Amino acid sequence: MDLGLRGKIAIVAAASKGLGKAVAMELASEGAEVAICARTAADLENTAAEIRNRTGCSVFAQALDVTNYAGVQAFVAEVEKRYGRVDICVTNAGGPPAKKFLDISVDEWRAAVELTLMSTVFFAREVLPLMRKNHWGRLLTITSVSVKQPIDNLLLSNSIRAAVTGLAKTLASEFGANGITVNNVCPGYTLTERLGELADNLAKGAGTSRDAILHQWAAQIPIGRVATPEEFAALVAFLASERASSINGASIPVDGGWVKGLL
Ligand code: NAD
Repeated sequence: MDLGLRGKIAIVAAASKGLGKAVAMELASEGAEVAICARTAADLENTAAEIRNRTGCSVFAQALDVTNYAGVQAFVAEVEKRYGRVDICVTNAGGPPAKKFLDISVDEWRAAVELTLMSTVFFAREVLPLMRKNHWGRLLTITSVSVKQPIDNLLLSNSIRAAVTGLAKTLASEFGANGITVNNVCPGYTLTERLGELADNLAKGAGTSRDAILHQWAAQIPIGRVATPEEFAALVAFLASERASSINGASIPVDGGWVKGLL
């Protein structure tokens, strides 16, 4: 199936590792021109080189923290200057810490809102006017299955990602007439570096192994295993494509069937 992504200009936020990196690789493999950002310049440059080597895409990479609005503005402006437009934007950031309610300070709440919600607002504010100019666009927010089924101990994720989902749904309605779709993609357990580290930490506390923790997670998933970042990226690429032009305002899990709700 030709996704029609050849020559599209795609921004992928927080893309030096994990889901963002897999999405950038997939879009570049489909022929898109990819611009990526993340905080650590060295990691970002390694990822950019890997994508260039594997796909031949030129890859524009700029180190920035997605909670810094001026940084996001400058990055998006530079992408527009280099490529003349922005067609696709995939928002992403690191996850907020896992804590119980009474252990979370007010400052931690504020930091999590900046990281998860405001970073999405920052990219949306910058890219939507550019997409509207061309009467074509795809805004994709990466959240979590926690927007479908809250996860114990992930209070910040459960609360703030719901706001991102409300934002995406509302933008889908506001910008649909401009040829722009806005969709939310919800990863379940996906084997990124971060999930591996999380498993290591839990294993240490429980006196067990990484594999044992991954097994426990896999046992909760109908397909019997965690997802790969590439499986997640495949859905993002489809939603970013011409083929998905009437999918708008959706929140779609990539979780092997973990969510028990009907919708
Ligand atoms: P990861 O830690 O492997 O990668 C995160 C990427 O974001 C890295 O490139 C990192 O450098 C970058 N980053 C983090 N904070 C940033 C910031 N402030 N500014 C710029 N870049 C920043 O994580 P991942 O597993 O790929 O997860 C990505 C998102 O999806 C996270 O929000 C995570 O909570 C969420 N999520 C992941 C899973 C999973 O199983 N992997 C499940 C549900 C939700």
